Amino acid sequence: MLKYDVLIVGAGGAGLMAALEASKAKDLKIGVITKVYPTRSHTGAAQGGINAALANVDPSDNPEVHTFDTIKGSDYLGDQDAIEFMCYEAPKRIYELEHLGVPFSRLEDGRIAQRPFGGAGFPRTCYAADKTGHVILHTLYEQCLKNDVEFLNEWFVKELIIDNNEAKGVIAIDIRNGEVHAIAAKAIIFATGGYARVYWVRNTNAIGSTGDGMAICYRAGIPLKDMEFVQFHPTGLRSTGILVTEGARGEGGYLINNKGERFMARYAPQKMELAPRDLVARSIETEILEGRGWGEGMMAYVHLDLRHLGAEKIKKKLPQIRQLCIDFEGVDPIEEPIPVRPTAHYSMGGIDVRDYKTSMTGVNGVFAVGECACVSVHGANRLGGNSLLDLVVFGKPAGAAAVEYARNKSESNYNLKAEEERARKEIEELLRKESKENINNIRMEMAQTMWDKVGIFREEKPMLEAIEKIKELKERYKLLAPGDSGRLFNTALINYIELGYLLDLAEAIAVTAVLRKESRGAHARRDYPNRDDENFLKHSLAYYTPEGPKVEYSEVRITKYQPQERKY
Ligand SMILES: Cc1cc2nc3c(=O)[nH]c(=O)nc-3n(C[C@H](O)[C@H](O)[C@H](O)COP(=O)(O)OP(=O)(O)OC[C@H]3O[C@@H](n4cnc5c(N)ncnc54)[C@H](O)[C@@H]3O)c2cc1C
Repeated sequence: MLKYDVLIVGAGGAGLMAALEASKAKDLKIGVITKVYPTRSHTGAAQGGINAALANVDPSDNPEVHTFDTIKGSDYLGDQDAIEFMCYEAPKRIYELEHLGVPFSRLEDGRIAQRPFGGAGFPRTCYAADKTGHVILHTLYEQCLKNDVEFLNEWFVKELIIDNNEAKGVIAIDIRNGEVHAIAAKAIIFATGGYARVYWVRNTNAIGSTGDGMAICYRAGIPLKDMEFVQFHPTGLRSTGILVTEGARGEGGYLINNKGERFMARYAPQKMELAPRDLVARSIETEILEGRGWGEGMMAYVHLDLRHLGAEKIKKKLPQIRQLCIDFEGVDPIEEPIPVRPTAHYSMGGIDVRDYKTSMTGVNGVFAVGECACVSVHGANRLGGNSLLDLVVFGKPAGAAAVEYARNKSESNYNLKAEEERARKEIEELLRKESKENINNIRMEMAQTMWDKVGIFREEKPMLEAIEKIKELKERYKLLAPGDSGRLFNTALINYIELGYLLDLAEAIAVTAVLRKESRGAHARRDYPNRDDENFLKHSLAYYTPEGPKVEYSEVRITKYQPQERKY
């Protein structure tokens, strides 16, 4: 049986940062398991940049302002001690990345360049043109290889095995040959990324962003925190929902309605296009709903105009964006405005992390980092550029903490072989089962329901309807089977399992959203338009039960900044 001291599930920025740190323990066996080849992880799609108050462009910036901006951006739902830790660590992690080899864009004098981003007091976002995630991911992967981290590439983790509130290992499928394995591990770090594919009809995420780690931990009894908070990015391409980075507005892009107005003046007169994402996304949707956009239904849009930036700046600072617009929308931003509309983007919620210094969950030896985790530093609304930061700031100590934990643990005699046998039989049965449903129908009905009823604007009745619909889809899912009994690269099997995860997550999102009777950050209720600190300044915790999530609440840690009204 495969055995590791520390097993990291996921090879995006968070997983690789944790693995690199863990690899310093040369006497321990460190492994990374990932369903896609590491450099295809969604981190590689990150465009705009990573925040750190280096004060290279504006000397007035500092980590305290970054802390305050993040707390305000979170609509006061973020835990302030964790946010402060992240913002003060940020400059150190950026220089560490630089020394590892990340080729950041530069100012004239050679220091790391920084651009303005939404909800930030100063230009604070470090970047490499519009390919920041790509260069960070590749650099970390090279470093992991150099430091002898073992990779199980194209392996799919299906289950977490816990005994006596302690990590024992995982059940995984080697996608290349269909073999089912139990893998023993003393410490397991989940770094499996987000779930924006719940909103399959319109999202920015990779096809594999199906929230697997969240659903796996949830089913194993670890609660999911703050699932009602889903970030809709203001600017997705009209036809596909593909992301146009906030960096495009950071570089000076305008949002324009069909009257030719820079309509953000109505919603955020000071910050304009650089208000935080929740506010800008709602403003665009309002313009469209009130008839000041173009197009109809899912294809309605407003304009993001970059033309006044000039060809040279667009080619230098936003080359990938330009290419995406040409390839997927048939529009060259040098010549024409870009048709855009909000698109599902990021999961503020995730696996409940109990201690931000180690990223350990409530189960001994199980850790979570990156987008799958909820620390919580993003609260009700994440600021652009703070996710890449979250990956490296929390990935590093999680790697160290997992090593420390594994060192103090002796070999377990838990019978993982029996779990492996059970899982193998279950999969054999599944492969033989005849399908009486269509995977695409279930997936699209789920996604359309979530988009229409648990989307940017929310209300009780549609959300209750969504919960009923998800329950119906979960019943229909029981009639579904992969429909392919092959062993080699059986993607039908993987897609089938992923859809099961998405349905559980969709339900957790909808149920926690109905219960939160207030508007805060990305959770905007028409029937409860105001923030209600008295009743809802608290984190939601969704616990798995076969009948649907059981929801409890926990305290938000407030240290320095008392909640105020949020104006931009
Ligand atoms: C288009 C786009 C642009 C973005 N731009 C920015 C930006 O400019 N700045 C910023 O701060 N943030 C940005 N974000 C957000 C940020 O990039 C992500 O939140 C972050 O990269 C997630 O990293 P991660 O390491 O948590 O997971 P990911 O990079 O998503 O990696 C997940 C890993 O888990 C593995 N995995 C998943 N499920 C399984 C399973 N069942 N078994 C085995 N392995 C599994 C995958 O193979 C993968 O290796 C952007 C996001 C998108 C989608």
